[in-house]
Amino acid sequence: MSEMKFEGQVALVTGASRGIGAAIALELARKGVKVIGTATSDAGAAKIREALAAFPGCDGRALDVTDGAAGDALVDAIAKEQGGLHILVNNAGITRDTLAMRMKDDDWDAVVDTNLKGVFRMSRSVLRTMMKQRYGRIINITSVVGASGNPGQANYAAAKAGVAGMTRALARELGSRNITVNCVAPGFIETDMTAGLPEEQQKALLGQIPLGHLGKPADIAHAVCYLASPQAGYVTGQEMHVNGGMYM
Ligand code: NDP
Repeated sequence: MSEMKFEGQVALVTGASRGIGAAIALELARKGVKVIGTATSDAGAAKIREALAAFPGCDGRALDVTDGAAGDALVDAIAKEQGGLHILVNNAGITRDTLAMRMKDDDWDAVVDTNLKGVFRMSRSVLRTMMKQRYGRIINITSVVGASGNPGQANYAAAKAGVAGMTRALARELGSRNITVNCVAPGFIETDMTAGLPEEQQKALLGQIPLGHLGKPADIAHAVCYLASPQAGYVTGQEMHVNGGMYM
């Protein structure tokens, strides 16, 4: 198979300061993509800049995906500065886990606003540029939990399942403009997010993984790079599960 070719392409990766987003940003940059990664703070943006320092044209910016106007402004600035925007990776996400009986409206709203509405807003922001280019790749990071469910994650599972549904709707809306929209659904990946889970829960989850180990952020990054590549041009509306077999 020919090597993935990304010459002249520009990507925006949300939540690139650590974990899965940092791995996606690095892998795309290694493939020659000009990557703009975001974090919620200036310190996080500086961290991204440092991590991508070896790759000319890559940058880190501050962005809160719950701030729609800020998302629009960043996307417009990138399109102007770089002359286009070809790849959007909606990776930023949070958890506020607790059993439904104890879940406060704030826990629900924060997760849905960031993980679902944030993905919609950022996708809407890039559409004008991608439609004009007649080329685009939108990749949304969902979760195995959106498909399988998980106790204590009613808000998170609802948001991730919502993103998968939105992905299929957008794929149908945008296919005629040569814009593909897909998801990558990670299983249990070693990041700050999973490090916070109680040890008992981590052990139980490990027992459900046929490959017998946790995933690495790079495992997700490789799947994202494929879907972001020109070679994936006939794949749209799909959710690619990368989970060591824990859900099939
Ligand atoms: P981390 O908690 O390690 O990193 C989260 C990233 O999202 C950080 O860069 C953070 O920025 C950013 N972020 C958080 N809130 C916002 C916001 N409001 N606006 C913009 N950026 C924000 O998460 P992971 O790397 O583990 O997860 C990345 C994605 O993968 C998420 O969507 C998650 O739901 C999904 N996922 C992860 C799994 C796992 O096992 N780890 C499993 C399945 C899905 P900052 O550093 O500034 O806080």
